[in-house]
Amino acid sequence: MNRRTFIKYSVVGAGAALAGVKTLQGGIIPVQPKASTMVGMPICVAPLADRDLDPLFEDMRKRAGVNALFPFIYSHEPHRAGVPPSPHFHGGNYARPNMQYYKDLPLTFEDMHAPEFGGIDVLARVIPIARRHGIRVFCFVLEDNQLPPLVAAHWEPLYEVDHHGNRTAGHPGGPCFNNPQYQAFALGLVEDYARSYDIGGIMWGSERQSGLLNTLGLSQSSGIDVSRTTCFCEFCRKKGRDRGIDVERARRGYDEAERFVRKNRAGRAPRDGYFAEFWRLLLKYPEALAWENLWVTSRHEFKAALYRRVKAVNPSLLFGWHVWQNMSFSPFQRAEEDYAVLAENCDFLRPALYNNVAGARFLDFVKGADESVFGDLPPEDTLRVLYQQLNYQEAPYDQLLATGLSADYVERETRRAVEGVADKPVQIWPGVDIDVPVDPGQGHCTPESVRQAVKAAFKGGAQGIILSRNYTEMKPANLSGAGAALRELGVTI
Ligand SMILES: [Zn+2]
Repeated sequence: MNRRTFIKYSVVGAGAALAGVKTLQGGIIPVQPKASTMVGMPICVAPLADRDLDPLFEDMRKRAGVNALFPFIYSHEPHRAGVPPSPHFHGGNYARPNMQYYKDLPLTFEDMHAPEFGGIDVLARVIPIARRHGIRVFCFVLEDNQLPPLVAAHWEPLYEVDHHGNRTAGHPGGPCFNNPQYQAFALGLVEDYARSYDIGGIMWGSERQSGLLNTLGLSQSSGIDVSRTTCFCEFCRKKGRDRGIDVERARRGYDEAERFVRKNRAGRAPRDGYFAEFWRLLLKYPEALAWENLWVTSRHEFKAALYRRVKAVNPSLLFGWHVWQNMSFSPFQRAEEDYAVLAENCDFLRPALYNNVAGARFLDFVKGADESVFGDLPPEDTLRVLYQQLNYQEAPYDQLLATGLSADYVERETRRAVEGVADKPVQIWPGVDIDVPVDPGQGHCTPESVRQAVKAAFKGGAQGIILSRNYTEMKPANLSGAGAALRELGVTI
């Protein structure tokens, strides 16, 4: 059986049919979605640890036909656990690390195991109950954005080093893809899940981008510390040297980028213009761009290794990537996160297309861009230019916070993803916004807005959907809006 045939018969549940059929020419023929199409639901850990799960699964089945659960089973972030932030928070693996998969690492069982909720094996508890409701469980692993101080001591050697030579412990840095110990840990983790539990698959989430983009402040998290950008650890330096890159010149390029943004943030406009200054920086330090590519390609190599490990253990497991929403706002990250390349090492992709909360996130990106490469333009013009570059038709600057992005954005981004992977047997399961938290003054989801977004995803060619981003955040009526769309489409009955 070749890989394409295999995928066709191995989708979650009882062998789902594809909702869009890919033609030999790579086009998409929309086909009415069928029952058993992927309808995924991410969820934080807390309710899974001690609550009666039958009513919970019954509710998601009844409201929206959920047939796959994506618990945040590995994370060091309190909100993924479903608990308030606290200096005593630990996090980690909410299943149970089987130590034979983590040999020769500086990490102990206690370093990896989440002690919250009495340290119970949440995965072992959830899987059999979910199965009774026709729900398969997928492990959702979140690459760490922040290391809690409580666990930092043993983890920090696996983390990136910024361009000033300081070890990072989180955003905008993270664990280093070229660090052999982090590679060994990550490979051990996916093998552990694949061998130890009866799961449907694994989704890996990496909400990160490369060092130069962070140094330039080009992120949906505007205002990031541009002095903490990465990675210049011993492993990356060696890999860079082996590729013929002058490491010190690359590092000085990052220094220069940091000074560029600091001056802009202080209101000192470059004499020759922001864009000219940015381009001059690249002319002067092409090594910085080579370093950027080193990070991007190292990440792809890391992803390929994870995918190969899971498939070597059990080819029937589905393995895929959550794609950070920053890609929706940044043409720079869009260039680096090429769907055609992502598709080489996965069975599915879940682009985060949270249209409601996207308004605020987009404006944040515009703010960062205007302190950097786009500084020559007023923010409303920057937004207009980005819409053109990204192919959106959305609300103007002064309305975006209240309106968010439309269902049309969901459709366009889904179609771009589907077309991007068109010659590969990869399914697109967009993450659709159901009450992703917003700040005061921002628009809110409604049953109708959710219904439109879900329908737009399938109109764009999606083969499934992941209702997002966390069941416990969703208003029941809005989740029912997703269910209404899925019923109209024939996905659930
Ligand atoms: Zn590194």
